[in-house]
Amino acid sequence: MELTKSNYHSLEAERAYMSRSQYLGFIKCEAQQMAKLAGEWRQETSDAFLVGSYVHAWNEGSRREFIAEHPEMFTKAGDLKANFKTADLMIATLEADPLAMYMLQGEKERIFTAEFTGVLWKVMTDVHNKERRRMAELKTTKSIIETTWSQEHGGRVSFVEQYNYLLQAALYTEIERRANGRQEGDWLEYYMVAVSKDNVPDKEVIDLRDPDRYLVELAQVEENMPRILQVKSGLVEPVRCGRCDYCRSTKILTGAIHYLALGA
Ligand SMILES: [Zn+2]
Repeated sequence: MELTKSNYHSLEAERAYMSRSQYLGFIKCEAQQMAKLAGEWRQETSDAFLVGSYVHAWNEGSRREFIAEHPEMFTKAGDLKANFKTADLMIATLEADPLAMYMLQGEKERIFTAEFTGVLWKVMTDVHNKERRRMAELKTTKSIIETTWSQEHGGRVSFVEQYNYLLQAALYTEIERRANGRQEGDWLEYYMVAVSKDNVPDKEVIDLRDPDRYLVELAQVEENMPRILQVKSGLVEPVRCGRCDYCRSTKILTGAIHYLALGA
C-alpha cells in the first residue's frame, strides 16, 4: 500500500502498517485497539485534538484548507469560536519566537516507512531537515512545566514522559534511519517544539536526543511486538483492560462485585 498524507491515518493504512499510536493502543488495551482496527470503535474528537490539528495545519501551510474543513470551530465571520481562541494565540506565540521558527524549518509532514521487529512501520514527521540532520515535532500541550501522576513511573512526571515522547523520538529516528539506509545508531537529531494552551501560551524547544534511552525504548518495542502481532493477526484473543471507554461501553455484568474488590 502506497502511503500519502490523505490515506496515512486511514484504517487500511493502520491494518497494513504498525504505527506509534497503534503500538501504544495495543499496550493500553488490546481489545480497544482491535475494535479500532475493525472499524467498530472510534475515539471522540476532543476540543484539545482539534486545537492540535489546527496548529499543525498552520505548520504545514494548510491553515486555509483546515478552516474550510472544520466549520464547527469557527464563527460565521471566520474567527475561532471562544473555546478554540487559544489556538491562534499559540500560533502567534510560535511565530514571535525566532528559535521555535528556526526549528520548524524543513520539509513538513514527511512519511517514512521501514521494516522493524519483522513488520512494516509508518511514521510521519512534522519537520524533516535533511541538510541540518534533524527532525522536529510540534506539540500542543496543556502545560509545559506541570507534572502529572504516572502509574508506570510511580511518581509525577513531565508531559514528555506522560505521553511517551521518548518512545516517539526513538521510533521516528529509527524508522527514518532505516528508510534512508543509514548505519545502525546514525540517528538524526530530534527536537520538540512545544507550545502550551495556557491563557498566555508558554513555549519551549525541547532537546530529545538520548541514544541510550532510544536503545531501551526500541528494545521494549521489540519485546512487546511478538504478542502484539499475534493479537493483530487474530491468532490470540485480545485482552480487555477493563478501564478504558471501550471496555466500559461493552461491559456486561455477570454478578455482584464485593465492595472490597473495588479499585483493587
Ligand atoms: Zn480497555
